Order: sequence, then structure tokens, then C-alpha cells
Amino acid sequence: MTGSPVWHPFTQHGLQEPIPQVISASGAHIHCADGRTLLDGISSWWVITHGHCEPRIAAAIADQAGRLDQLIFAGYTHAPAEQLARSLVRLTPTGLTRVFYSDSGSTAVEVALKMALGHWHNRGEPRHRIVVMEHSYHGDTIGTMSVGERGAFNRAYAPLLFDVATVPFPLAGQEQATLDALERLCAGPEKPAAFIVEPLVLGSGGMLFYGPHLLAEMVRICRAHDVLFIADEVMTGWGRTGGLFAFDQVDVSPDILCLAKGLTGGAIPLAVTMASDRIFDSHYSPDRADMFFHSSSFTANPIACAAANANIAIWDEGGVTDRIDALGAALDAGLARLSRDSRFANPRRMGAIAAVDLIVPDAGYLSTVAPRLRAHFLEHGLLLRPLGNTIYAMPPYCTTAAQVDHIFATIGEAAGIVAG
Ligand SMILES: *Cc1c(COP(=O)(O)O)cnc(C)c1O
Repeated sequence: MTGSPVWHPFTQHGLQEPIPQVISASGAHIHCADGRTLLDGISSWWVITHGHCEPRIAAAIADQAGRLDQLIFAGYTHAPAEQLARSLVRLTPTGLTRVFYSDSGSTAVEVALKMALGHWHNRGEPRHRIVVMEHSYHGDTIGTMSVGERGAFNRAYAPLLFDVATVPFPLAGQEQATLDALERLCAGPEKPAAFIVEPLVLGSGGMLFYGPHLLAEMVRICRAHDVLFIADEVMTGWGRTGGLFAFDQVDVSPDILCLAKGLTGGAIPLAVTMASDRIFDSHYSPDRADMFFHSSSFTANPIACAAANANIAIWDEGGVTDRIDALGAALDAGLARLSRDSRFANPRRMGAIAAVDLIVPDAGYLSTVAPRLRAHFLEHGLLLRPLGNTIYAMPPYCTTAAQVDHIFATIGEAAGIVAG
């Protein structure tokens, strides 16, 4: 063994790409051991919302760590979890009245799938089919890979992934095909247990956007056929699409909602799966066999819940959406600069997410251009991590217009690197 024993995620160590050591972070910046400062253009993988080391969140963590660090959550409870659950019920779409805690986006989705299957099982009409959308990403565990796009990410595990039914991604102008496919599957002979989807933005699938009208229609179709609608807002939640949640743009609610990433402002892992009374009620009975069989050691960790409560206090104070709007305007200005450059295609923005596709011969996640782009960005003091040939910025909300300008100037120069 040479060098560090650490095995990094989504990293090909055989390529010998540099792995900067980071010692601290503040606002939109991370500070490296070698003295460099990098602008965190992707919010440290989509989790940091307000900024790194947000003082109120850091203080809440420190305070809680000195009082109650961890508690078994089967049969016990604590104030940070109770307060957070009430806040979440208040802030999320109407009808989501139950809050189940876990630790990551993947576990939040696993819990959602198990809740949906448990619901039908306990009602005595078992259903096992899950409907998904093409190009979706819901996590990296076996269950969440099963409901995600099949490809390079999970080829080695394909035989163990369960079968799902897939509706096409709603490309602009072809939305009806998606709705028709969903309608057909919901009305078909094998009644689905649930439809799971990332509302408005498919993140890992390449920052693919679709409109609120379509989201609302998909909910209506599921409702009409009594198929549960699972909204995976692990990425879209906490302001990324402009409002607090993507579902704020429609007047319907999902049956189950998954939140993680920005739930604590990104400071510490925590996730929730929220459900309607109906799903809770199908698990509510005097029979222990009907309980919801899921737990993880750190369910509702008090320190993480305290961080989430501090995050919500910041949202409640107001001003966050103004900062997102200002950031959105800066992102638009950056995209406008690239829209005049024929080496880029599909400049797009929703809320605090901006993306553009670099035209390359080998498009796709394993496009050889991605590592070269990462190196170029690093050289220019930028943490960006393109999805194949899709370059996107998803910075924390404290990022200034000047910083956004630097991001897009550097993206603009990237096209030359690739051509050369
Ligand atoms: C990141 C992500 C997940 C997985 O979350 P982890 O915390 O990384 O397990 C699930 N769904 C979506 C939409 C995501 O973007």
C-alpha cells in the first residue's frame, strides 16, 4: 500500500488525480492545507445551503453536543426531534403529517419504498411494482439503485437489482408521452405500489428540468389510480429550485416526501421520510406485526436534529429566498455569457441551479472530458464536478455575483481546454 489508506467515493484511484486536503471552510470557500482557497461551486455535493460553518448552525451543534449526544429512538424521544418534526409538518406540503428519521438521502428513499410496500401489505392487497422516471437517481444502496437509472453506476450489481417500470423523461414538447406512459402503467393489470420521482430537477441524471404543470399532472394521475406518489426532494429541497421545496410550485401534495442534504444546512447528516396519515394508519394497529420495521442506530440523532432546527430558524427569519433570487440573477448573467458560445448547448437554470452542456464527441457520465474539466477548475480555484459533459453550478446561497462571474468565466475557458 502506498500513500493514504482512504478509499474515496466515486473516485478512480488508478487515475492518480490529486486529492486536495481541506482543513477548514467558511461561506462559499474551502481552505486547503497547501494554502489554496477554493470556491465551492457545488455546495460540497449539493448539501451546504446558506454557507459553510454557518455560525448559528455550528453553535446549535456545539450546544446540543454538550447536553444529549445520542439516544435510542425506539421507544424514547427528545425535544430536538419533536420540535423538528413539528416544524417540518408546518413547512412541507399539506397532508404530510408523519416524520420518520434516518441518516442519508439513500436511507430516506429506502424508507419511502418500504413504507409504500408496507402500506399495501398491511391493507391486505400486496403490490410490489415501483414506477420510476428515466434518468433518475435516488441513491447508491441496492434498493435505491434499483429505482434509479441503470448504467455505468450500477452495472456490476444489475442482476441483484429489482425490476421496475419506467416512464420516459419528459423532454420539452414530449411531455404527453410521459403522462401517457404513467397513465398506462397505473391503469395496467399489475397495479403499482408507488411512483417515485425527483420533482422538477433530475440531479445526477444531468440537471434535467421539467415544469411544475407536468409534476402536478403526474400527481393527479397517481391519485386517480390510487398509486402512491413518492417525491424525492433530497436534492431539490431547502431552496435549490427557488422556493423552500420544489413542491411549493404546485398545489398538490405527494403521499411520501424524502428530505436530506440541506435539511441541516448541510453541516451534519440527517434525513427524513414524511408520510400522510393514510400511510401511518396502515401501520397503526394493536398487532405488533404491522409496525414499521425499520431503524438505524443514529435515527434522529439529537445533534443533527438541533442543526436542522437552527437551519429552520434561519429560513423562518426570512431573507433566504431573496438571497436565492439574487444568486439566480447572477447565474443567469453567467449563463448568458455562455449562450453566445457555440461550444456549449442547453444553458438552463432553476432557482440556485445552473447547467450547460459542453459539446463533446463522447457525451455521458464516463466522458473523458470530466476529469480534464475538474483539473482545469481546480487550477482556477474552483470546486466544480461536471456530470460527464454537463457542467453545472449549485453554489451556497451566500455566493456573491463576483464569485459567480468567476465560475462562468472559468467554465467559458474550459471549452478551449477540451478542444486543445
Ligand atoms: C443525493 C441524492 C440522494 C442520495 O442521498 P445520500 O445522502 O447521498 O444518500 C437521493 N436522491 C437524490 C435526488 C439525490 O440527489
